[in-house]
Amino acid sequence: MNNNKCVFLDRDGVLIKDIGYLKNPEDIIILPGSLEALKDLKSAGYLLIIVTNQAGVAKGFFSMDDLAAVHEKLLKIYENNGIKIDDLYFCPHHDRGTVEPYNIKCSCRKPSAGMVLKGAEKFDIDIAKSFMVGDKDSDIMLAKNSGLKSFYIKNDMYEHDESIIPDFYVSDLKEAAKIILHNQNK
Ligand SMILES: [Mg+2]
Ligand SMILES: [Zn+2]
Repeated sequence: MNNNKCVFLDRDGVLIKDIGYLKNPEDIIILPGSLEALKDLKSAGYLLIIVTNQAGVAKGFFSMDDLAAVHEKLLKIYENNGIKIDDLYFCPHHDRGTVEPYNIKCSCRKPSAGMVLKGAEKFDIDIAKSFMVGDKDSDIMLAKNSGLKSFYIKNDMYEHDESIIPDFYVSDLKEAAKIILHNQNK
């Protein structure tokens, strides 16, 4: 059992440009090198699962329908490029949100491990052979909370607590993929 390996991917700042509470599919900007990185990981046998906090739903910045439209467009872009994303999980919750029923404290909002556990169970994933790539401390903490090895994409957008140490610091997904593929051939 637990035969599959997976790269769990944060969405904003890893796959697409983080413009803050992305609402319109037209505003999706694929980050440079990310399509190639996803293809390379897939070819090497990694499952690809997106795990993204989207508290904009709970906060009333966009609706579940808006979010669904964004994800439909994103997956279409991948499909058009020959990339199959195995699953996409999002957390629409926030305990200080205003929109019911999403204004709750949940077990899926990163750094909680809910979304990773869900994927791991569904796809029979060996966590010890799997990775998380993110650009926030909550992504690193998610990795620690679930047993994944972590990549932190350096950025100027979010404050980084230096006591929260990832397994690797990288500049983008492409560099993370390179390290993953290099290490597995050892
Ligand atoms: Mg992010
Ligand atoms: Zn949640």
